[in-house]
Amino acid sequence: MKLLLLCAALGTGGSVQTTSAQTTRPAPIPPVTPPGQVQPVAPGTRPAPVLATLRLSPAVPGVQKVEVLSNGFVKAAHALILLPARDAAAPRALILATQSVLAAFRADPSLIEVDVSVYRKETYQGFGGPLPLLTLSVPRAQQRTFQAALQTGQYGRVWSQGNPATPEPELTPLQELERLPVFIGSQAELLRQRLTQATAQTRGGIRGGLLFKGTPTRRQVALTFDDVPHPLYFPLVLDALQRAGVKATFFVIGRNAQAYPYFVQDMVKGGHEIANHTFHHVRLPGLSDAQIRNELQSTNDLLTRLSGQPVRFFRPPGGQYSARVLKIAEGLGLTTVFWTDDPGDFQNPGVETVEARFARNLRPGGIILLHDNAPDGLAALPDLLKVAREQGYTVSTAGALTR
Ligand SMILES: [Zn+2]
Repeated sequence: MKLLLLCAALGTGGSVQTTSAQTTRPAPIPPVTPPGQVQPVAPGTRPAPVLATLRLSPAVPGVQKVEVLSNGFVKAAHALILLPARDAAAPRALILATQSVLAAFRADPSLIEVDVSVYRKETYQGFGGPLPLLTLSVPRAQQRTFQAALQTGQYGRVWSQGNPATPEPELTPLQELERLPVFIGSQAELLRQRLTQATAQTRGGIRGGLLFKGTPTRRQVALTFDDVPHPLYFPLVLDALQRAGVKATFFVIGRNAQAYPYFVQDMVKGGHEIANHTFHHVRLPGLSDAQIRNELQSTNDLLTRLSGQPVRFFRPPGGQYSARVLKIAEGLGLTTVFWTDDPGDFQNPGVETVEARFARNLRPGGIILLHDNAPDGLAALPDLLKVAREQGYTVSTAGALTR
């Protein structure tokens, strides 16, 4: 059955895919490489740079690599450990994770944080694949005390899947990251959506449960990050924001928050806004109502439990949405947030390109889209914030933009 009848660009720079009312089945989802370890590469853009690694001495069994990254001010490290099933019991995983942290701080005492992810070797498929067995995060200030705290069960920056591991629902994660908002629906729905967007573009603010931009009369923009949190990049993003005194909105993937819950608590401590980016980073318009509701509700529940705060904002993975998605999100009290300014950081276009695109698109009421786990976005961040400040913009959260 022919599916996509029309692709038309919106005035927002977004695109729309309409289907006839009787052919609203989703496009077949192609097999994906799990996102995270492998950055998507768009035509004409560069592959992700190879990151520096630390050599641990003595070597720790199971450690595949310890990647090190800087945000221009400080460095963090992430150790990847793969354990065969016979070796993958929680105590063994924790011992090796602890040894990796100690060895990494010994190898480079200037690190601000060492994070570890331990996976089952047989099922490991990268960051977007099956969840780790255990994760551990040790900021420099706690490198001498975390072992004692672990032994008494008082250490808060450790997570373990438990035994047996909870199976994940059979949903295929969306490989595409956010580039353009894509509306999928019938012609009538498309017309209504265009009208809503046109009003939102002219007047700004929340319209019909959607936020496309803030008030066009105020020199204020929202800084938003998608696909949060990643155990190597996220501590560095937080550090860069804290240095600039800027609060951002983080669109969190539920499964990432599940495996790295302490990063959500870091967001709260930093005064940032925590928002919903679905539990499995899936293409929502192709799912049933119950599946869509479950993706949003389970993420809301987890984030509220971790942060103690209600969740107000949601962004659909890949920017792909439909009238059904909007209605379900609104029913859960969520405003759906898009963006005005996408520097394309995840395509690895080069730091200068990210900065030039950002400066070109900076407008009152703008919503800036960056990604966690995007090296060019992280490298450009201090300069982006400087440019915005020099041009008289206040940079803050999506929530601040709507006040
Ligand atoms: Zn995303």
